Amino acid sequence: MIIKTDADIIKGYFEDYSGLLGGYADRVILPENEKEARDILLEASAKNIPVTISGGGTGVTGARIPFGGWVIATEKLNKIIDINKDSLTATIEPGVRLSDLENELSKKGLTYLPDPTEPNAFLGGTISTNASGARGFKYGPTRNYIKRLKVLLSTGHIIDIKRGDYFIKRGSVFQLKLKDKEMNIRIPDYSMPDIKTAAGYYIKDDMDLLDLFIGHEGTLCFILEVDIALGEKPEEIMSFFSFFSSEDDAINFVKDAKTYMAMSLEYMDSNSLSLLRIKYPNIPKCAKGLIYFEQDYKKEFESEIIDLWTKLLEKHNALMEDSYFADSDKERAKLKELRHALPDSVNEIVKKNKMPKVGTDIAVPDKCFKEMLKFYKEKLTSSGIDYLIFGHIGESHMHVNMLPRTEEEFKKSRLVYMEFVKKAVGFGGTVSAEHGIGKLKHQFLEIMYGKNNLKQMALLKKSLDPSCILGLDNIFPKELLK
Ligand SMILES: Cc1cc2nc3c(=O)[nH]c(=O)nc-3n(C[C@H](O)[C@H](O)[C@H](O)COP(=O)(O)OP(=O)(O)OC[C@H]3O[C@@H](n4cnc5c(N)ncnc54)[C@H](O)[C@@H]3O)c2cc1C
Repeated sequence: MIIKTDADIIKGYFEDYSGLLGGYADRVILPENEKEARDILLEASAKNIPVTISGGGTGVTGARIPFGGWVIATEKLNKIIDINKDSLTATIEPGVRLSDLENELSKKGLTYLPDPTEPNAFLGGTISTNASGARGFKYGPTRNYIKRLKVLLSTGHIIDIKRGDYFIKRGSVFQLKLKDKEMNIRIPDYSMPDIKTAAGYYIKDDMDLLDLFIGHEGTLCFILEVDIALGEKPEEIMSFFSFFSSEDDAINFVKDAKTYMAMSLEYMDSNSLSLLRIKYPNIPKCAKGLIYFEQDYKKEFESEIIDLWTKLLEKHNALMEDSYFADSDKERAKLKELRHALPDSVNEIVKKNKMPKVGTDIAVPDKCFKEMLKFYKEKLTSSGIDYLIFGHIGESHMHVNMLPRTEEEFKKSRLVYMEFVKKAVGFGGTVSAEHGIGKLKHQFLEIMYGKNNLKQMALLKKSLDPSCILGLDNIFPKELLK
């Protein structure tokens, strides 16, 4: 095992993409095998030392940022143990980078379908946050691709379970028999919204025990090994960047497009396009909205597929002449670059403004989406704060990014955010659809579930992590553990 204590070396572990400052830890420990990971957790438990687990550090909620104690970093647990083309499964350690996994799979004509967008994330991190990406529209989140997990508890026990091994009831105490003891796991009884959500622990009636360990944000266990389900690489993929001269046209297009089998269905608003135009002046001046979508297909159906989408785009007045279309890896890479240029441009503004970005991760039921979007626009316009809206429109999940220029605007943007949260929760929505709660969104989770349910989450955590050392202050305030 490697132990790092040099302040200059370990400070990189005290940040992620949340902008949360002030993290610190005594040491960063890199276990190289299961035994070392277990020894570290047993020692930390015995000495009551908080432990924060670190993946690729691409999270946006401060979840991997420690505030004291030790960091266990997973980058030395980075083996792809097996890729099985027949069963379409792979066995993987948690520190494998998504880009490395995709490279290896690609050589065998395979792919990891949920494709969480950020290639530098580690597999363990994506399981711990139940990440999803643009293709979540068709394939759903990480959860749908986890077949087996081997996890280490802070008690030193190892649980190795497959999907289907155990089912648990909402609001019950589940007794899990371990080698030398029986563990009583206290399952909360709240109901999750029936939409894409990554807010709080996953709790459903008759749920699979495995699902409890997906989306726990490093609070319940250390993920040691995982079996994932793979897919075959689609024969062909077409990507469309379709511009619209009115936002309404773009949104009405999406309503129809949802009934087609696209892989992704993403949106950028007029402000996002204005920002991108600085780097890409060819974006048509009259464009007020963009829909980016991908379609997988078999070569023999190419002309039908193009015909189908063209008709739908024409029906909704897309700017056909100015839209982009890619059917080769090279062309698609260009569109991907253009799409990725947006968060980069946002980050540049954030740096220039010297104020944190205030970005939402809210999703609402489809039937409330239009009203939610209208609410966003009204509140943002009257606030006077610069903003842009983009995201996973196919799942009624948009990222509203407010870009305050002053301390006063920053405070105002937090208040506006709170109004969005209350409105979305009133619609039966979620305060986090993919990024998780981390250390920044406790207040929002309380609005969504209420204080009593946060206390139930704390009881669940205590039953699996009795020394209360793992991922403190992630999901709910650590004070609830007292
Ligand atoms: C440009 C950009 C684009 C992004 N796009 C998306 C997107 O489209 N969809 C999306 O969902 N997210 C997105 N993200 C957020 C981020 O990539 C995901 O949250 C990702 O899952 C984090 O993985 P990580 O390995 O970097 O985890 P980290 O940030 O290191 O940690 C995240 C959490 O996982 C826990 N953890 C890590 N490893 C383990 C383990 N082995 N056992 C237990 N807990 C562990 C940590 O303790 C922490 O709570 C984006 C981020 C960036 C910067």
